[in-house]
Amino acid sequence: MAVPIVRTVTDLRRTVAGWRAENLSVGLVPTMGALHEGHLSLVRAGLARTDRVIVTLFVNPKQFNNPADLAAYPSTEDDDAAKLATAGAHLLYAPDAQEIYPEGFSTTVSVAGASEGMEGRFRPGHFEGVATVVAKLFLQSGAGLAFFGEKDFQQLQVVRRMARDLDIPIEVVACPTIRETDGLAMSSRNVRLSQAERTLAPRLAAVLFEAAKKLAAGAEAGPLLAASRDALGRAGFGEVEYIELRSEASLAPLARALEPARLLAAVWLGQVRLIDNVAVPASLAAGRPGS
Ligand code: AMP
Repeated sequence: MAVPIVRTVTDLRRTVAGWRAENLSVGLVPTMGALHEGHLSLVRAGLARTDRVIVTLFVNPKQFNNPADLAAYPSTEDDDAAKLATAGAHLLYAPDAQEIYPEGFSTTVSVAGASEGMEGRFRPGHFEGVATVVAKLFLQSGAGLAFFGEKDFQQLQVVRRMARDLDIPIEVVACPTIRETDGLAMSSRNVRLSQAERTLAPRLAAVLFEAAKKLAAGAEAGPLLAASRDALGRAGFGEVEYIELRSEASLAPLARALEPARLLAAVWLGQVRLIDNVAVPASLAAGRPGS
């Protein structure tokens, strides 16, 4: 069965009000479309936890700091709707920019702390765009749960902080990164990789997993991550914007993984910017008496 599509806040609210009247719980999966298995895993997580799953499809101009990236962003709504129907989503909310940012729109949601550094440093204004649109989607839908991928780990923390700070009654659920069989994290931008770049791309995840293993064994981040940067350059990647060890809970920079941590990176491959991150379990050194 086709997935019903709504394009206005009014129609979205009407649908959700009907579900609420039947006491059905509502989950939200915000996306920018060009759906892949990563997105569909969020839909499945939604279906496991809520009675009705709304997927939003909005390529949010406010979160693109680079106009060329926005212009090149894939747009495949018919395919997306077909995939959502197969996955069992209940509603596709696909507003146009005018619906989200009508004439006179003047409000920006800005999240200090979690937005700083990494993506925030290299994509100025990106997280303001994300926090603003996600706050609107939360409030427009009135969903009780929202599903986000760990693929965008910093975004997940920004969204969590925003919902908490603005008292939006929604639980933000983190879902694991879905990878291709060769390890490359799925991304809508991967279709823009040439064949040669696509062959090289999984090396990023491999370098992160190797470094994460050493960090979990107690290695010091500074020299290890400098070596990882060099390894990526030698392999044929372009600029490594960042490769950083951060606390999983607070995103504070760490010199060693003495608490559960995350290793996060952004690198260029041709015209495509890849981001990825992996978990780093707390190193045993943390629990050793006298360490
Ligand atoms: P996007 O369409 O890229 O804005 O992503 C929409 C949602 O899908 C975000 O919560 C992403 O973190 C999530 N997502 C994107 N790629 C993946 C992936 N490979 N695995 C899991 N979640 C993903």
